[in-house]
Amino acid sequence: MIRNTNPISPAAIERFNELVKDASRIAIVCHMTPDGDALGSSLCLWHTLLAMGRDVVVVTPDAFPADLAFLPGADRVVIASYGPSQAEAVLHGADLIFCLDFNEPARIDRLAPVLMKAKAPRIMIDHHLNPQENFCDTVISVPESSSTCLLLYRVLEMAGLDCHIGSFAAECCIAGMMTDTGNFSYNANDPEIYRVLSRLMQRGVDKDKLSKRLFDTSTERRLRIMGYAQYKKMLLIKEYKCAVITLSESELKEFGYKKGDTEGLVNRPLSIPEVIWSVYLRESEEGYVKVSMRSKDSFSVRDICADYFGGGGHINAAGGEVHGSLADAFEQLLSIMPKCKSMLPADSCDK
Ligand code: 5GP
Ligand code: MN
Repeated sequence: MIRNTNPISPAAIERFNELVKDASRIAIVCHMTPDGDALGSSLCLWHTLLAMGRDVVVVTPDAFPADLAFLPGADRVVIASYGPSQAEAVLHGADLIFCLDFNEPARIDRLAPVLMKAKAPRIMIDHHLNPQENFCDTVISVPESSSTCLLLYRVLEMAGLDCHIGSFAAECCIAGMMTDTGNFSYNANDPEIYRVLSRLMQRGVDKDKLSKRLFDTSTERRLRIMGYAQYKKMLLIKEYKCAVITLSESELKEFGYKKGDTEGLVNRPLSIPEVIWSVYLRESEEGYVKVSMRSKDSFSVRDICADYFGGGGHINAAGGEVHGSLADAFEQLLSIMPKCKSMLPADSCDK
């Protein structure tokens, strides 16, 4: 197994090149509920490998939000929850599998046993902390990278394959770089981002148009849910510098909620200077509550999600689940707050 940390090791790139050179049928998998970075990196690599003449398919565990469907190639993705046998056939027939934007099988849900049974070598390209041991043969894991898309570009460049990145691949790559940094507004101080962005834009991507599609395009439904959630459902718990937004299944139903409608909601309370920690609990009709957390500075929501909500993520953006009702999830959250208080910056514990 080749493991990699920052900077990207030449040995990992050599292995990447060997595996890509010998592979004719390639599968690309990203995490469930794909976000812009997961789908963007998968489609960027898909377009690039297609340009190299490879037989390549992107498989997602479940559907991606409708507002990412405009990304070139999204209509060619195999969605495992819609077509399990097709997804299984792709993974079993592959001679190389890429795992993008996730670092443990649990993140691909019901696709995990299929992936683990497939014989092909696996290459992980990801930016989440602590990749699971013995999951992928080749691990290119750079947690310092603001997005998997940024990391993927750098890998392709080091591998000498950036000449195959065309305008569609570049657009998908920029989309992921943008969505994982809130349109370059957080985790976006690394000058390398802008060098890569410049290279990608030279392929003829209309960044302004992409930005409008991703950050300034909405539906009436989404605007109304977002407004309602912030006006009526945001609770500020000053003692813990915490904001909590809850949306029940019946509230979501009332607004006709669709996947992706509340994307970015959890970030909003952080615009209040006093709020260090923002939590969004969304009740799902499948009998669990999706937990989303965002934070500032060194307050690690990744640790909270890993320790108490069976999840993980990044220091300032993480998620997990509660198997129970919304009331159970809220109660669980309240009960752990005193334990999290010590992570708050010293001067912010005053009421
Ligand atoms: P979001 O709040 O946007 O759903 O997710 C934020 C980050 O947390 C994502 O980058 C993702 O990696 C991570 N994340 C979200 N949900 C889960 C989960 O259930 N398990 C793990 N391990 N990570 C999650
Ligand atoms: Mn990501």
